[in-house]
Amino acid sequence: MFNLLNTLVENNKKYGKEGKLAAYIPALLEANPNDLGIYIVDTRGKEYFAGDYNKKFTIQSISKVVSLILAIKDNGRENVFKKVDVEPTGMGFNSIVNLEASDTGKPYNPMINAGAIMTSSLIDGKDVEERLKKILDFLKIVTNNNDIYVNENVYLSEKETGSRNRALAYFMKSTGVLDGDVEEILDLYFKQCSIELDARDLARFGVVLANDGVLPWNGRKVIPKDVCRIVKSIMVTCGMYDASGEFAVNVGIPAKSGVGGGIIATVPRQYGIGIYGPALDEKGNSIAGLKLIKDLSDELDLSIF
Ligand code: GLU
Repeated sequence: MFNLLNTLVENNKKYGKEGKLAAYIPALLEANPNDLGIYIVDTRGKEYFAGDYNKKFTIQSISKVVSLILAIKDNGRENVFKKVDVEPTGMGFNSIVNLEASDTGKPYNPMINAGAIMTSSLIDGKDVEERLKKILDFLKIVTNNNDIYVNENVYLSEKETGSRNRALAYFMKSTGVLDGDVEEILDLYFKQCSIELDARDLARFGVVLANDGVLPWNGRKVIPKDVCRIVKSIMVTCGMYDASGEFAVNVGIPAKSGVGGGIIATVPRQYGIGIYGPALDEKGNSIAGLKLIKDLSDELDLSIF
């Protein structure tokens, strides 16, 4: 497995040159666009890695998976899906048009910004700090790593340039679908996007989802099986922005990407995969990361379809 991963990283590194770092959050421009790394954990807890697997980056949209899980834990699935749908949009992750076009005003799904702002608003807690702590504590458990924290620099950069997210949140407030203090909800959303981790952390989180919510390293169950199933289904249909259909056809693995360059993928009952490659394609997915996971899926026959 190590040889295979090294070869795949070497073969696909060159694609970083064809992509661009996310520029709309200035702090993300500090990454090296040529980095590419992968980490894999199997459901027995064995770990494999290659390339720049230990570089830190911010979780960004992959945090949407966490806020969905915590929103369901705190409210039950019915109450969550009263507030957010589960349909792909075919639009960019920060699109506003669907919010106004839909009959209900509900965000289309929890993997786009509007939907994640909604699920973050549903996490119980007396203030932003308490809710953020729940997100961090959850991530520490599923990554088996206590060193998970918010990158203050990226957070401030997100907050300063987050006009589009403010627009989405205030629009939902105006139509009555989003409850609560909008500025506080946005603050939580910006902070959760700015959580820093690495490909190993994503791979471990991915294997917990693959393993129906059981931590492979100690057998403890931390996410109900039905919640894992819901999350993986939504990752397949909506996880890779408006390239989710193409990803399902070409790669066939539940996955979620973020504009920090991360991809988390979860192969049911087999592997968790974490990838880092900060140069993005025009849809916001890691350009070399996509090629790498496609090759890996072909080599190991990982498509679930
Ligand atoms: N913080 C980012 C935003 O809301 C997350 C986007 C992403 O990773 O897709 O703009």
